[in-house]
Amino acid sequence: MLFSYFDREKLLSKLKAEPFDLLIIGGGITGAGIALDAASRGLKTALIEKNDFAFGTSSRSTKLIHGGLRYLKQLEFGLVKEVGSERAVVHNLAPHLVVPEKMLLPLSEKKSLGYLITSIGLKIYDWLAGVRPEDQRRMLSKLQTLKREPLLRKEDVKGGAIYVEYRTDDARLTIEVCKKAAQQSATVINYVAAKDFVYQNGKVAGVKAVDVLTGEGFQVAAAVIVNAAGPWVDELREINQSKTGKRLHLTKGVHVVLPREKLPVKQAIYFDVDDGRMIFAIPRGRITYVGTTDTNYSGDKNNVTTSKADADYLINAVNLTFPSVNLTIADIESSWAGLRPLIHEEGKSASELSRKDEIFHSPSGLISIAGGKLTGYRKMAERVVDLVIADKFADRQLRGCETQRIKLPGSNFAGRRDIRRFTQKVYTSLKLSGFSEVTARYLVENYGKQAAEIFTNFESRAAQDDPELCLVRAELAFCVKHEMVVTLQDFFVRRTGLINFNIHKLIKWKKHIAEDFKSTFQWSEDRMEREVNALDLLILSVQNFK
Ligand code: FAD
Repeated sequence: MLFSYFDREKLLSKLKAEPFDLLIIGGGITGAGIALDAASRGLKTALIEKNDFAFGTSSRSTKLIHGGLRYLKQLEFGLVKEVGSERAVVHNLAPHLVVPEKMLLPLSEKKSLGYLITSIGLKIYDWLAGVRPEDQRRMLSKLQTLKREPLLRKEDVKGGAIYVEYRTDDARLTIEVCKKAAQQSATVINYVAAKDFVYQNGKVAGVKAVDVLTGEGFQVAAAVIVNAAGPWVDELREINQSKTGKRLHLTKGVHVVLPREKLPVKQAIYFDVDDGRMIFAIPRGRITYVGTTDTNYSGDKNNVTTSKADADYLINAVNLTFPSVNLTIADIESSWAGLRPLIHEEGKSASELSRKDEIFHSPSGLISIAGGKLTGYRKMAERVVDLVIADKFADRQLRGCETQRIKLPGSNFAGRRDIRRFTQKVYTSLKLSGFSEVTARYLVENYGKQAAEIFTNFESRAAQDDPELCLVRAELAFCVKHEMVVTLQDFFVRRTGLINFNIHKLIKWKKHIAEDFKSTFQWSEDRMEREVNALDLLILSVQNFK
């Protein structure tokens, strides 16, 4: 498998030399899913990503593999059924990374739907999604709801419900799917951008690409090209002169991160807001994150940030729902902002737009896919690859879609109990160096069984430095070897999520880690300075709001 920066020359040579059956533009979850599906069916597949994998929306979601309760409100039964039943499939593919999370749905006197309607709605939700009996919804009285979450405004609560969703790390899921595609012989590379298309007899036959790290231009030949560029889908359709009919409608969604002690909710909670929307508060390790907003967006797609209005909206919503917490904007320790690449529908507001995916097949043969959810990535990929095969490879002997059985890297666990045993084993060893169980859980949830390699590396350097630094260094060594890390941000944002979930740790160790990057990749002083400056600017932008 070639999936390290040190394989870059080989990967670039392959891209330049080989005509591919399928070339995918975009290394978010959509492109990654298509690459894995296509490669596992036997298509010669390549994927290029202009930034890092998951740089776009796929590292900025609510990080839930969820059935989409709100889609039930919008009567999108088909969507609820597909994404709902897909949750269990994705959980099985990576049970350490897609973890069941009981969600509390408080019902308020003024805002929510009635108790009976919610009860029936959740029952339909369970039925459509094929939820296992033990995980099916449970309705709660007012007292039971307040016992589950004493921070709720008591006079507002009229009851509640508990139902199950799955928590994940979107960027890590994307990277594991990319890695698995590479294991299935796909040529997968980051920091290569598609700039234009190559045509033969009016049909797309390749792309003009640029190696973003060196500026070198080259061509990649492919029988079929899929545009899975998320919020950038229409830019490529424009270059292809096929942006006719439907178009994208981008909406921004923001999450803010609070220290757990500032918002100590006892479990994940999905609550109503005054404007008719709903918001999640999700505890995760030492923090609780809250989101999301949903506003129309027309700014820079490469630099989406949290505004003061976004932060105020979320802080107000929390203060109204949990009156004793009294949060201020100064309590926010980090944030992230992303764009939903939705399909425009005339006259509909941001929140009303459907989250369904759509495929556009242009007269020049370019296949573009937009809309959709992280949760539905596998089914979206299946539909796209079915279309690719029907269009160009119908006479070829290819395997059918098997991605529902292809476990992601690090997932070889025999059930939840095995994951708990493994976590306990990691914790028992880490405890000796002063780590808490949160660290063991973080390692196992992020890397699964691959955590063993990180731990072995950690042990080999444990005597040298502060144990916390040794562990981050061991993670970096793993990510360099197996996860195509190229920049400081790749590591701190999309491999470890430290910028979101433990920004203090990032700030504490960033200089040391930058030194490791410098020696590993032979960076010049100038390159290192640029990288550190870029990271510092990012830290500023996730903590300060204009
Ligand atoms: P992206 O992740 O944006 O990937 C597209 C990639 O294409 C980018 O990395 C970009 O750099 C690359 N690219 C663009 N142009 C080029 C080019 N010319 N050459 C090469 N590469 C290029 N879904 C859920 O299921 N659960 C959730 O909890 C959830 N929460 C959400 C919350 C928010 C706030 C938002 C915004 C979305 C949420 N979603 C959720 C939806 C989900 O995150 C998206 O549907 C999904 O991540 C889209 O993935 P994508 O691969 O299509 O796009």
